[in-house]
Amino acid sequence: MVCGEETDAHLFLQCSYSIWVLEQLLGPLGVHANFNQTWTSFLLDIDRLHDKVQKTIALLAIQIYTCHLWRERNTKAHDNGISRPSRLLQGIKMDLRARLASSTWIRPGSDY
Ligand SMILES: [Zn+2]
Repeated sequence: MVCGEETDAHLFLQCSYSIWVLEQLLGPLGVHANFNQTWTSFLLDIDRLHDKVQKTIALLAIQIYTCHLWRERNTKAHDNGISRPSRLLQGIKMDLRARLASSTWIRPGSDY
């Protein structure tokens, strides 16, 4: 994203900016996915996780990540600079916590 390449795989999965955010987001969930593939293949890998709660939280995290990253991309496109990845991650986690707090299926002891 910081480099300006616009393919979906690069923007969401392979840019150093995106990789850092995804690793920090999915690592605590125990998800260590292969980022060197297409966006669709990446999502199919997540969808094949056996633990239903882990899969649901990971997919929700990725959905929120996608929205935040796209918003960040648009902000950058209008020459308004780019947030530090840690700031983007903080916003994603805040939204994720809010979504999980309104759910009834949270795993006790989850980092989220
Ligand atoms: Zn890049």
